[in-house]
Amino acid sequence: MGEIAKNLTEIKSGIPENVTLVAVSKTKPNEVLMEAYEAGQRIFGENRVQELIPKSETLPKDIEWHMIGHLQSNKIRHIAPFVSCIHSVDKVKLLREINKQAAKNNRVIRVLLQFHVAQEETKFGLSLEEAETYLKLSEFADLNNIEIAGVMGMATFTNDEAQVRNEFKVLKSIFDKLKTSFFSDQSSFKEISMGMSGDYKIAMEEGSTMVRVGSSIFGTRHVVG
Ligand SMILES: *Cc1c(COP(=O)(O)O)cnc(C)c1O
Repeated sequence: MGEIAKNLTEIKSGIPENVTLVAVSKTKPNEVLMEAYEAGQRIFGENRVQELIPKSETLPKDIEWHMIGHLQSNKIRHIAPFVSCIHSVDKVKLLREINKQAAKNNRVIRVLLQFHVAQEETKFGLSLEEAETYLKLSEFADLNNIEIAGVMGMATFTNDEAQVRNEFKVLKSIFDKLKTSFFSDQSSFKEISMGMSGDYKIAMEEGSTMVRVGSSIFGTRHVVG
């Protein structure tokens, strides 16, 4: 077995059935993704549109592509034809544009609302207040080509496990509040995307349903991404 297949097997053995593994393949070339594909992985996460597009064009069509990185409005039309889930909706105006582009493609695109729970200011995300204000608007009810499937967040990059755990708890509580206030009758609102290579085990203990794991599968990245 190759290194990537071995890593995948090991990681999957520690993940319960109800948690989705998104293999974060950013900066990695197609042949590396294909090793994971041949080991059975079908869900891949990328953080840049200009990398996601050529990969989606050349790799097998049964791959589910998840966009996990900061997204600009004007790039949405490029991924709307094929993207399976957008984790990184960090501004409410993106919802309108995703809905518009999804409609043009006769699709419903699953999206997650990204919340800012880390201490680092560099991380993107909504506040709970922003999300609540928007979800109350009637405009939101008219967006028929998106499905808000849950929330996403990133913990602070730190060795302080208590802090990381606490930030995941904050995201879980945001999920619970939104579920109760706006999505109690929608079974599709169920995802909590949290946890990366360094912290996905803590994230799962705190209720994660989707972990986004890159370097533990594919090895360290040499480029910042
Ligand atoms: C790169 C990235 C990951 C994966 O990070 P690893 O530490 O390599 O597992 C997860 N989520 C987002 C948003 C990322 O940009």
